[in-house]
Amino acid sequence: MKIIMLGAPGAGKGTQAKLISEEYGIPQISTGDIFRANIKNNTELGKKAKSYMDQGLLVPDQVTCDLVVDRLAQDDCKNGYILDGFPRTIPQAEALTEALKKSGTAIDYAIDVEVPDQVIVDRMSGRRACPDCGATYHVKFNPPSREEICDACGARLVLREDDKPETVQKRLEVYHNQTQPLIDYYQKAGCLFSVDGTEHMDMVFMKICQKLGMDR
Ligand code: AMP
Repeated sequence: MKIIMLGAPGAGKGTQAKLISEEYGIPQISTGDIFRANIKNNTELGKKAKSYMDQGLLVPDQVTCDLVVDRLAQDDCKNGYILDGFPRTIPQAEALTEALKKSGTAIDYAIDVEVPDQVIVDRMSGRRACPDCGATYHVKFNPPSREEICDACGARLVLREDDKPETVQKRLEVYHNQTQPLIDYYQKAGCLFSVDGTEHMDMVFMKICQKLGMDR
């Protein structure tokens, strides 16, 4: 099964993608995580991506598409995958459609997690991330067991540069201008479905599973 997660930054795409990945045993491919891992390892790709990410802007399409097409060719993607944070522009979606066409396949589901902007802003200011292992938390909705400490690896949590309020505003603007048109794109492709992302994450997950045809 090949799934795409759509929705504004902070809508909960990553959380749902992780749950779906565990449920279906397919890899979660997050372009944001791949960029962050490259930044941490100080690679050329990381240096390039950081200059855009810190401003709340998108990394250029060519760089991002090449990276994703390479990743999808790996062995663990044979039975499907869940793309979290890609595509984010029409040219990215077109590149993905073309790459899949070559192997005679297509995306099965594009899941749009709908959340109003104001809720996003409130959520993101409380988000905390682990700089070492990438785990994410929320001070109110999903706190770590020890304040400001990662449950998974014990590192001190941080507010990501791109989760700071001024960057969030910019990311929302970029989302509305460049990513929202994908909702139409996948609607026309006949594989879109939307869920109300303001509900509790367990409820959102249940609705997604129902739609994906699972009996929970
Ligand atoms: P995320 O963790 O998915 O919110 O991504 C964090 C940042 O990484 C974004 O604000 C972009 O700067 C960059 N990024 C992630 N995915 C993409 C993509 N598909 N295209 C361009 N930039 C991306």
